Amino acid sequence: MKREFAPERLNVPGFAAAAATLEAADPVPKYERLVAELAAPAPDAVVNWTAHGEERPGADGKPVPWMHLEAEATVPLVCQRCLSPVDTSLGVDRWFRFVANEEVAEAEDEESEEDLLVVSRDFDLHALIEDELLMEIPVMPAHDVCPTPVQLSSSDEDFKAAEEAKPNPFAVLGALRSRKPEEGK
Ligand SMILES: [Zn+2]
Repeated sequence: MKREFAPERLNVPGFAAAAATLEAADPVPKYERLVAELAAPAPDAVVNWTAHGEERPGADGKPVPWMHLEAEATVPLVCQRCLSPVDTSLGVDRWFRFVANEEVAEAEDEESEEDLLVVSRDFDLHALIEDELLMEIPVMPAHDVCPTPVQLSSSDEDFKAAEEAKPNPFAVLGALRSRKPEEGK
């Protein structure tokens, strides 16, 4: 019989012992703290994630629960140059080792490459996914090339004024031609 695991109340030791995998494509609005960081609501954006559990022998030979988490979402952040939304991809790919308590986590954190979490039988995997995505938000999100501001005329008067201000395209062309050095003969 297959064991079922709930992402909101994950039995971590059981998940690791079963070498189980959980995956989902969650709507971004489900992640409220992430939504709070966005330039605009993203009702159609999705968080794709996969979590895989495994046991590895610890220093004392006893099995220790580990988890590999991958998550990805493309969300609109505020461009720090033009302040308009810029779609930004956030990617998480990280290993976690579960330890007995907060003291062990603090003591071993320094020399551990993997991240340490306190083991639990009702671990909130969603909160972890959200924490990790939040950490991936760049300090200065920005477009590679900011979109040119679109100028729309609000009235006929503005439109006329804009037309008058605009140089005659043929005059411009003529000016370019006359500037161009004579070719050939
Ligand atoms: Zn921009």
